Amino acid sequence: APSAVRPVPVTPPLASAKQFGPVVLEARDVRKKLGGRLVLDGVDLAVRRGEVCVLIGPSGSGKSTLLRCLNRLLTTDDGIVLLDGEPFGYRLNGGEPHSEPERRLAARRRRVGMVFQRFELFPYLTALDNVLLAPRHFGTVGGADAVAYGLELLRKVGMADHAHKFPHQLSGGQQQRVAIARALANEPEIVLFDEPTSALDPELVTEVLQVMTTLAAEGLTMVVVSHEMGFARRMADRVLFMDQGRIVEEGPPTQVFEAPENARTRRFLATIG
Ligand code: ADP
Ligand code: MG
Repeated sequence: APSAVRPVPVTPPLASAKQFGPVVLEARDVRKKLGGRLVLDGVDLAVRRGEVCVLIGPSGSGKSTLLRCLNRLLTTDDGIVLLDGEPFGYRLNGGEPHSEPERRLAARRRRVGMVFQRFELFPYLTALDNVLLAPRHFGTVGGADAVAYGLELLRKVGMADHAHKFPHQLSGGQQQRVAIARALANEPEIVLFDEPTSALDPELVTEVLQVMTTLAAEGLTMVVVSHEMGFARRMADRVLFMDQGRIVEEGPPTQVFEAPENARTRRFLATIG
């Protein structure tokens, strides 16, 4: 009977249906000067477990610098970075600089994976040895187990058949997939991607985005600097627009792309089409 018909519940978009865990990586009021210029001018960012954040913004706005501060490749001049709620690396303590003890910092840095624009594979190591370098060095895997582990990671990115090739024998897209496998080898809690497809020929972009899409769908926590709008629209839980060292707008992709509030965001989106 019609009286039994209930209104169909509105299906929430996938992004909001996703359950996030606690904050994994956080920047609080981070400032960084480089070459006398304030490149990061008070950045606040908290990434929750399972969240995919896509960071966009004009060239020179500080995106790479922010990622390098987040994984402590760079120290910050002010503000703090926290990993799992604990100060990560250099910090100010009552006005005095303090560093996390070297060994502890090195161990925690391995929990933050990084993928670079130019892959940065070691040229004299095979794909497999690139992936296994860090886990072998830190003794997290050894012997025959290591090879099986490395092959499994390469399989994940569709590169198991190329395990014994050197970087120069691989296309850019293949090298980047190996670099992603390498970033996963320490079982990171979060992976930071710095324009992972912008050095690639257009026909090689898709294979890398497909790997990233799979990882995102599996629940990997990611911060991705990218202007790949298709990826951002489909996979981002949150899009952040950075300009002149600050995050000036953020929200779900539909909001930031279709109804940006900030004039600078609108101008930027018009330039990238
Ligand atoms: P994005 O990744 O958004 O293009 P970057 O973080 O690479 O921006 O750079 C932000 C600004 O910081 C740019 O103006 C750049 O020239 C400057 N910068 C980056 N690295 C250095 C450095 N090592 N010394 C001086 N200036 C730098
Ligand atoms: Mg950059």
